[in-house]
Amino acid sequence: MVDAATSSRVALVTGANRGIGRAIAAGLAERGLTALLTARDPSQGEAAAAGLRDKGLSVAAHQLDVTDQASVDRVAAWVEKAYGRLDVLVNNAGAYYDEDQAALTADLRIVQAAFDVNVLGPWRMCEALIPLMRRHHYGRVVNVSSGSGAFAEAGAGTPAYSVSKAGLNMLTVKLAAELRGTGILVNAVCPGWVRTRMGGRAAPRSPEQGADTPIWLATLPADGPTGGFFRDRRRIPW
Ligand code: NDP
Repeated sequence: MVDAATSSRVALVTGANRGIGRAIAAGLAERGLTALLTARDPSQGEAAAAGLRDKGLSVAAHQLDVTDQASVDRVAAWVEKAYGRLDVLVNNAGAYYDEDQAALTADLRIVQAAFDVNVLGPWRMCEALIPLMRRHHYGRVVNVSSGSGAFAEAGAGTPAYSVSKAGLNMLTVKLAAELRGTGILVNAVCPGWVRTRMGGRAAPRSPEQGADTPIWLATLPADGPTGGFFRDRRRIPW
């Protein structure tokens, strides 16, 4: 059952045109939230939203490239004007899983590009949108990270991706600490190995399975955790 508080909640998902992001947006809409699907290519975002709207769900789409500050500012202005609130921000957009690179010889332009999407992207989004959450003392920020960015799990390989996701993990800790007591919970999640363009066909999990823990974190109760890193709804080491 969808209660009144849930049905008035607005959730924005980055990279929602495909993969795990689309499954997160769908899952939140199915739980009664209004899901804002953002995508670099607006026609792809609109196509994903149309599929959900056909099922009677409350969704809208907007262009967003998380590496472009003007695009981030435009999406924030749209959310404020059209909805006057934001309750959930899922920083899902991610890129540069550089399996062909090693740290010692990495092309630093790729490393820089990975940081721009995977760290500065969520950072831009938080700076632009958390002020809207603060207005009504409620927010759930979910940073879709990876075990590849955990000191506890990482080995050799994917240097741009892993180092940037480690940066996203630290951003999660910083924001959670700064926002403690404000009603805004900030957590990071590893979705597991998921069948998407990034994860490939051999991955064991469907996008819906990958979306489960992000959706759980996006809908945490007031006494839920903040500043944590989760997989399969359980805390994992950084
Ligand atoms: P996909 O490659 O299927 O999707 C990535 C999404 O991010 C796409 O919507 C893509 O948009 C978007 N994106 C990339 N760059 C930008 C940008 N600059 N601005 C806005 N959107 C952008 O990957 P997944 O669905 O698998 O990945 C989702 C998240 O999960 C990522 O953060 C990833 O690192 C993480 N993850 C995935 C795992 C897996 O096994 N699949 C494992 C661990 C973590 P476009 O279509 O325009 O390219």
